[in-house]
Amino acid sequence: MANSKFEYVRHFEQTTTTYLLPNTYIIIRIDGRSFHRFSTLQSFQKPNDPRALSLMNAAAVSVFHDLGGEVVSIAYGVSDEFSFVLRKECNLFDRREAKLVSTVVSIFTAYYVSLWPTYFPSQPLTKPLPTFDGRAVCYPTIENVRDYLSWRQADCHINNLYNTTFWALIQQGGMTPQEAEKELMGTLAKDKNEILWSRFGVNYNNEGEMFRKGSVVYRNYGAVPESSADDTPSDEKEIEQKEEKEEINPTTPPAETQKGKSRSQQKREAKKLAKAEVVIEHVDIIKEAFWEKRPWILH
Ligand code: ATP
Ligand code: ATP
Ligand code: MG
Ligand code: MG
Ligand code: MG
Ligand code: MG
Ligand code: MG
Repeated sequence: MANSKFEYVRHFEQTTTTYLLPNTYIIIRIDGRSFHRFSTLQSFQKPNDPRALSLMNAAAVSVFHDLGGEVVSIAYGVSDEFSFVLRKECNLFDRREAKLVSTVVSIFTAYYVSLWPTYFPSQPLTKPLPTFDGRAVCYPTIENVRDYLSWRQADCHINNLYNTTFWALIQQGGMTPQEAEKELMGTLAKDKNEILWSRFGVNYNNEGEMFRKGSVVYRNYGAVPESSADDTPSDEKEIEQKEEKEEINPTTPPAETQKGKSRSQQKREAKKLAKAEVVIEHVDIIKEAFWEKRPWILH
């Protein structure tokens, strides 16, 4: 079909393609479409159905595997949303926004649907089928990325405390949704904790970690022993060493290196990272401790 008289329409495409800013962290957030309704129709347990959250987590892990080890560095999920942080060196699809966002949304949705029977074995998926939207935002610094993730986790906490109290008032307190909403109007966190404890004997801090903190997904690079991770064939190593030597006295300027690491060193580390197991944890990512223990996630 080359050079048909219709082909000029391609030029329209070039003028509207967005290439995301190089050397920045791309965060793609996906969110379930009308999941308030979807969760009701699928009889999700309220306020939190652990099967639905585990299914979200499994779909997120599949995004890590499908895109390969060098693309996503960490993901954070809560309710019907998941945020994927792409490495700032990521050059997938030349960083074309539409390709990146549509691909992540599509991988996630495909796995959500195909893994449904694993998490809801006695409940076949019926219409309306689950669908997701997605958006991409670029963040230039690690501080921005951490603040983004802290924002989502703080949101998780605020919403979950509200929802836990709201549903306790309905399920155990016999209120209608309207009455529960009115009861909670203008209340602070300590008031909600007090309602849960004094009226229902519920200590909010004993609620499930997955509900209170959301889900953090990342490659557990630190847990991979050096020997098992670096099984680069020795002939490949030789080539790498040769490349390294050449980089010391290059005839052409070397490609940009991370913090002075040689290209082969970067390649080896990327390989090791790609082999590390993808883990799901329900932990605090607002405080320093998580990041201090896992310095490889954001750099
Ligand atoms: P939109 O299409 O604008 O995103 P929405 O109905 O999906 O609309 P959200 O703000 O995304 O609105 O909220 C998602 C809703 O899905 C939650 O309010 C909650 O009711 C429901 N939900 C999501 N996950 C779960 C879960 N694991 N257990 C119970 N309910 C859930
Ligand atoms: P990209 O991810 O860049 O789109 P791609 O492999 O999907 O890569 P396309 O240009 O989209 O490349 O081409 C799709 C290919 O899928 C076709 O070249 C063809 O080989 C195959 N294909 C698609 N539909 C069919 C079909 N109905 N029957 C047989 N082959 C098909
Ligand atoms: Mg939305
Ligand atoms: Mg939604
Ligand atoms: Mg949502
Ligand atoms: Mg194609
Ligand atoms: Mg095609």
